[in-house]
Amino acid sequence: MNKNDTFEIYIDDLGQDGEGIGHIDGEAVFVKDALPGDTAIVKIIKAKKKYAYGRLMEVLSPSVYRTEAKCANARACGGCTLMHMDYQSQLKFKRDRIINCMTRIGGQDKELIEKMLGEVQGVKEPFRFRNKMQFPIGKDKDGNPVIGFYAGRTHHIIPEEDCITGHPVNKHIVKAVKDYIVKFNVSTYDEETLQGLMRHVITRIGFATGEVMVCFVINGESLPHSNELVEMLKSAINVMPGDETSTGELTLSSVMISINRENTNRILGTKSKCIYGRPYIDDYIEDIRFSISAESFYQVNPEMTVQLYSKAREFAELSGNETVWDMYCGIGTISLFISKMAKKVYGVEIVPQAIENARNNAAQNGIENAEFFVGKAEEVVPDIYAGNRPGSRADVVIVDPPRKGCDEKLLETICLMNPEKLVYVSCDPATLARDVKYLTERGFILKKMAGFDQFCHTGHVESIALLERVSNRKADAKVHIDVDLEDYYRIKDAQGKDGK
Ligand code: SAH
Repeated sequence: MNKNDTFEIYIDDLGQDGEGIGHIDGEAVFVKDALPGDTAIVKIIKAKKKYAYGRLMEVLSPSVYRTEAKCANARACGGCTLMHMDYQSQLKFKRDRIINCMTRIGGQDKELIEKMLGEVQGVKEPFRFRNKMQFPIGKDKDGNPVIGFYAGRTHHIIPEEDCITGHPVNKHIVKAVKDYIVKFNVSTYDEETLQGLMRHVITRIGFATGEVMVCFVINGESLPHSNELVEMLKSAINVMPGDETSTGELTLSSVMISINRENTNRILGTKSKCIYGRPYIDDYIEDIRFSISAESFYQVNPEMTVQLYSKAREFAELSGNETVWDMYCGIGTISLFISKMAKKVYGVEIVPQAIENARNNAAQNGIENAEFFVGKAEEVVPDIYAGNRPGSRADVVIVDPPRKGCDEKLLETICLMNPEKLVYVSCDPATLARDVKYLTERGFILKKMAGFDQFCHTGHVESIALLERVSNRKADAKVHIDVDLEDYYRIKDAQGKDGK
C-alpha cells in the first residue's frame, strides 16, 4: 500500500476511537467515518509498514449500523466520531469494547465478562445531554473571529455555535462573545505567533439548578470592558425561552477568567479570577448540593452520572459500619453520595480547588463523616498507610481515576490496606482491564461489572467493576496469587454465598 492508492474495501471491525477497520492483503487499514459492514472507496493517506490510514471517499454499500448524523459538522469536527452510527449500535459497540479489553488486556474469561456486564446503559435521548462545553477562539483566514470546535486531530477551528450534544443556551453565549470581540476589537489568540488575548470560552450549567458559569481562558491578566461583557452574557442567557430542555430557567451565576499564558495544549491556566457572581456554580445529584469551581472535574452527563454513582453505591453494598476510601474524588461527589451509608469516608484528589469544593460540599449538606486530602493519591495514601494514621485501613475502596488509570503505587497500597471490596469506576476500559489484571493477580476477584454511556457519539465508554478480596486471604501486593476463577465460584456456590 502506498500513499494516494485508492481501494474498494469492506470494513469488518471498529477501532477504539470509533474508526472503521478493513483489510488489504492482510494489512489493517484504519478509516475514520467508516463502519463495519460498509463497502467503501478508500484513499490511503498514510502508509506504515504493517498498517495504513485511509480516507473514506465514498460509501458504495452502507452498513446496517449507518444513520444520518444529526450534525452537519459531524465529519469535520473531532468531537463526535460515531454520530453516523445508530445509537443502539453505538451501545453495542461500547459493550464489545469493554469485553475485548477485559479479555485481551485484563486476561479475564470472556463468558464470565459477557454474563456480568449486561447491556451498556444509554441515555433516553442522546442529544442536549452535556452540561459542559469548551469552545476554542481564533481567527478565520480573513481575520474575523471564529468560535467553534477543533477539527479532528488538528487545531483548525470549525465555526459552530450550537453543538447539539450541549445545552441550547450555548449558541446565545457564543454569539454574545463573538459580538463582544467585534464590538470592542478584542484580539484572539494565535497559536503560531502566541499573540492575542482570547483562547477559549467554557460553559458549564448546573442542569438541576439552572446556574450557568462562563469561563474565559485568556492569554493576559484581564478582559477589557468586562462589565459590558457580563451584561451581554446576561441578555444572551435571558433570550433562552427555557423550554428546549426540562431544566427550567437559567441564571448567570459565575463569570470567570482563567489565565493561561503558556504555549500549551492544556486549556485551563493555573490562576483564575471571578469577574462576576461567585467563583463556582451549584448543582444537585439526588438531594446533595454540590458547588463546582472552574478548575474542578464534574461529570458531563447528568442523566448517566446518577446511574453510575447509584451503581457504585449498589456495588459497595454498605451497611453503615464501613470505612470507605474514595480515590480521585474530585469535588467529593461519590464520597458524599455514599456518606450516609458509611461510618467514615476519606477522599483524595490532586486539584486543590476541587478539595476546597469537597470540604464545602460536605459542610453545606451537613455531612460530618467525610474527610478530604489534597495531593496525588499515589503519594497521600501510601504515606497514610506507612504512618498507620487514621485512614490506613478501609473496608471498601472506590477508585475513579482519569483515563490513564491508577498509579501502580496506589494499587499496591490498596492491596496492603486489604479492603473487602474495591469498586473501580473507569472512563477507559483498557486501563481498567490492566488494573483489574494487577488486582486479580493479588488476591482480588472480579465479581460484577456494568457499562454506562457517558459520552454519547464518541468511542469512549464508562464502566464500573466490583472486585472482592478472596475470602480469608490477606492480599499482599508483593506476592503473586493465582486465583482460579472456576474453583472460586464452585466453592462460593457450594456455600450458597454467591448472591448476585
Ligand atoms: N470521582 C470524581 C472525579 C473523577 S475524575 C467524580 O466523579 O466527579 C478523576 C479525578 O482525578 C479528577 O478530579 C482529577 O483531577 C483527579 N486526579 C488526576 N490525577 C490524580 C492523582 N494522581 N491523584 C489524585 N487525583 C487525581
